[in-house]
Amino acid sequence: MEILKRRILEDGACFEGGILKVDSFINHQMDPQLMKSIADEFVKRFSGIYINKIMTIEASGIAPAIMVGYQMQLPVVFAKKKEPKTMRHALTSIVHSFTKDRDYPVSISGEYLTPEDHVLCIDDFLANGNAALGMIDLINQAGATLAGMGFIIEKEFQNGGHILREKGIHVESLAIIKSLDNCQIAFK
Ligand code: 5GP
Repeated sequence: MEILKRRILEDGACFEGGILKVDSFINHQMDPQLMKSIADEFVKRFSGIYINKIMTIEASGIAPAIMVGYQMQLPVVFAKKKEPKTMRHALTSIVHSFTKDRDYPVSISGEYLTPEDHVLCIDDFLANGNAALGMIDLINQAGATLAGMGFIIEKEFQNGGHILREKGIHVESLAIIKSLDNCQIAFK
């Protein structure tokens, strides 16, 4: 997606350890016009597939997911990083955070993820795939069906994309980064 790649080159910053900072338009301050274009692209790429729910993990996946849900006119549910005491029929999985280097639980209520659901997962980044695998685990626990997974940015030099595609999952990434070596952003 050309406008996204251009924006990453203009406003993204590269950090040691293969981390791309996109705080000025995705992860901290957000650009709604760009998010709308991102959502339109996801809608196009997943057209013709039966989907009745959008899912993500808090916090950075929520903005693109809600835009996609709005465009597809579907409900959006997000896995929470803390299980609230009031959550009923909680399903839980453990995810290893790439950026924070620690494990954390993610929970979703079985009230909002059910065997009737055909789920499109949306997230900001695909790195090693741990967050994605956590979402897949929750979908499996709920007896729901995974329809596809969409990421704004995939870092191809990490293994997540390979793991998910090997499983036969329909993965769409709007900007695929081949390398961040020497803090240079190189797209596929
Ligand atoms: P994974 O679980 O695939 O290893 O990492 C995905 C999650 O880690 C994303 O939801 C995102 O929040 C965070 N993440 C991974 N790599 C990056 C990165 O380079 N930059 C930013 N800002 N977040 C990242």
